[in-house]
Amino acid sequence: MAHYDVIVVGVGGMGSATVYQLARRGLRVLGLEQFDIPHDQGSSHGTNRIIRLAYWEHPSYVPLLRRAYELWREIEHLSAERLLLITGSIDAGPRDSATIRGSLRSCELHHLHHETLDADALHARFPGYRLPPDMVGVYQPDGGFVMSERAIVAYVNAAHDAGAEVHAREPVVAWEPDGGGVRVRTPRHSYTAAKLVLTAGPWASKLVPALARLAVAERQVLIWTRPLRPEWFRLDTFPVFNMEGPVGRFYGFPEYGVPGFKFGKYHHRDEATDADRVDRAIHPQDEAVLREGIRLYFPDANGPTMALKTCLFTNSPDEHFILDVHPEFPQVSIAAGFSGHGFKFASVVGEIMAELAMDGRSRWDLNLFRLDRFAA
Ligand SMILES: Cc1cc2nc3c(=O)[nH]c(=O)nc-3n(C[C@H](O)[C@H](O)[C@H](O)COP(=O)(O)OP(=O)(O)OC[C@H]3O[C@@H](n4cnc5c(N)ncnc54)[C@H](O)[C@@H]3O)c2cc1C
Repeated sequence: MAHYDVIVVGVGGMGSATVYQLARRGLRVLGLEQFDIPHDQGSSHGTNRIIRLAYWEHPSYVPLLRRAYELWREIEHLSAERLLLITGSIDAGPRDSATIRGSLRSCELHHLHHETLDADALHARFPGYRLPPDMVGVYQPDGGFVMSERAIVAYVNAAHDAGAEVHAREPVVAWEPDGGGVRVRTPRHSYTAAKLVLTAGPWASKLVPALARLAVAERQVLIWTRPLRPEWFRLDTFPVFNMEGPVGRFYGFPEYGVPGFKFGKYHHRDEATDADRVDRAIHPQDEAVLREGIRLYFPDANGPTMALKTCLFTNSPDEHFILDVHPEFPQVSIAAGFSGHGFKFASVVGEIMAELAMDGRSRWDLNLFRLDRFAA
């Protein structure tokens, strides 16, 4: 039976970076992925993901983000491919909203360059934005996006170069502790390892049943539309955004890589699901929800549909991540519950999971991400 230092289950956003970080430390690593690499059934497809530094969700994310940016630049250099594109970012909402207050708090605490623009000033500077007068935008120049599918490819290539083994189309059907290590079963083989890292995204609770209520898959739908004024939705004229308003929270990107302005609504239609049984068809109501947001805030992008895709969030109860060792088995560590905002961190999560697997702890303060915060 083949034996490894570490087996990583799930080679998506988090798993690909983890396999690489472990392999570069000289460990014998096996990454097991149930689908192709990359694929469009999980959480990381659809070309790109927003990265932003003015983190409204919690200021503790900012130091992690700074490291994430460094590591994205590192893998970009290794792969000789453009993976991190800077457009600036806008956090928008009413002045007293959680988004604006949180974004400004992160900017102030961490001394981030930023400007607060009212709706008219925002439109004058970035004409694609047409916010109502009661909304403001916090502009932060370091925001942008990561090419998510290409980043997975880059990490798997770099992991191979560092000596890792990666098997696609090999689902893990069971794992169990084996002395101080683990035994992992797939339809092809059984493997043993000293350590196991679970980076299974929306499938997390299938591998750790205790996560059933703590890492819940949720169906999302994204749209790409042909702008009516394409010149206002280009890389150099349109910063990425996330915004909070009376009909929900939206996010979007300039046109890049594939045709169209990319736009989504957080928690789309509030459809918790099972990752193996999610409805991947697109229904008229899916497009209606997205068109409402585009019409309200970006009417100059409200042209013909270029694409619609389903994707999966994996929500934790407080929407902060789960980065921890398994409560019963210290040889197992878990990265889960990224709650629709995890990809930008994948580069640093890879480093954190490598540290957890090797040392049982990380140099980062992971208190916000501990599993036992849900114990009560
Ligand atoms: C529509 C949408 C928009 C988003 N926008 C942003 C954004 O702008 N910015 C941002 O930072 N984040 C964003 N996110 C969130 C971000 O994409 C996710 O947090 C991130 O992709 C999660 O990565 P992951 O590795 O956990 O999951 P995945 O990339 O899905 O990887 C999990 C992998 O595990 C594999 N797997 C599962 N079970 C097994 C098994 N038993 N055996 C083998 N393999 C297995 C799966 O096949 C999969 O490949 C968005 C998410 C969605 C859906």
